[in-house]
Amino acid sequence: MTLEKSIYELSQEELKSFLASKDLSTDLSTTIFRNLYKNNKHEQPIGKKLLAVLEKSFNFDLPTIDTVSKSPDGTVKFLMGFNDGKSVETVLIPFHKRFTVCLSSQVGCAMKCSFCYTGTMGLSRHLKSSEIIGQYIVAANYLENVLGLKTMAPNIVFMGQGEPLHNADEVLNAINVMMEPLGLGMGPRQMTLSTAGYLPGIKKLNNFPKINIALSLHSPFNDIRKELIPINQHFPLEDIFEALDGLDLMKRQFIVYEYLLIDGLNDRLEDADKLEELLGERKAAINIIPFNPFPGSKYKRPSDEKVELFKEMLVERKLRTMIRTTKGSDILAACGQLKS
Ligand code: SF4
Repeated sequence: MTLEKSIYELSQEELKSFLASKDLSTDLSTTIFRNLYKNNKHEQPIGKKLLAVLEKSFNFDLPTIDTVSKSPDGTVKFLMGFNDGKSVETVLIPFHKRFTVCLSSQVGCAMKCSFCYTGTMGLSRHLKSSEIIGQYIVAANYLENVLGLKTMAPNIVFMGQGEPLHNADEVLNAINVMMEPLGLGMGPRQMTLSTAGYLPGIKKLNNFPKINIALSLHSPFNDIRKELIPINQHFPLEDIFEALDGLDLMKRQFIVYEYLLIDGLNDRLEDADKLEELLGERKAAINIIPFNPFPGSKYKRPSDEKVELFKEMLVERKLRTMIRTTKGSDILAACGQLKS
């Protein structure tokens, strides 16, 4: 039977406490961490005796790669499976000379956003921190060992399946473990968490390391946003902005507002005016994401001209704006297209 607790959910301090409880040297935590996270062939392997002690208390399971889809643009989408037969999608996205891993935080999602393929699944379960970290390790190893790409360690976005702040405690633990200097050694600014506006979770963000924060805004009007993101009826924009304004940001940190541009719905002049009213005085950057259609979706992608026009309207209003190029839409790996 698989042990409930995973070695991958432990910080180095927790691992040290465990070793001390077994009368073992806490220095061994360094060897263990390097073996688990660095994929380092020169590292002295974990000795058999020590391994036996660890294996009595923890499982060492990583997700399995069930399928791989590759796009000509370099995007790689994995279906990753867990012990209970559930699976999620994880995406490696090339960006300049580096990759970003888009991690899932839940199997399915409870938020039911109307533009999102995952939202049609409902929530099956939350992922454990070890399962979140496991996706990263498996994807990074694939990049190096299968694709043979020795690039810098991929950045992370929590934008895969699930609302990360609906599973805030496990996501926070995953972030803390991934920041362990002798483990993956990720910096907080290498990680971006994107939320649909789950207010109870936003209120916890001041307990997180200073990672990048993104809000799926998609409309500056509550009535339209409610249609796109149903939780907006419980957590309207006024409350979300009040909570975001209370975040303790770094000096030059902006909150990124993702704006899924949908033909005829949120690409109008009045949308640009209202965005200026909402974001003009805030530390904000807008990311326009042209809608990615999926089977059965009711919305349309605007033409490239319309996307450019909307961007210009925002820039004229002195809003920091960029258009996010879509990667992996041909393999349903782009934003809002994931479904296991
Ligand atoms: S967009 Fe994100 S929050 Fe909304 S249903 Fe999809 S996965 Fe969930």
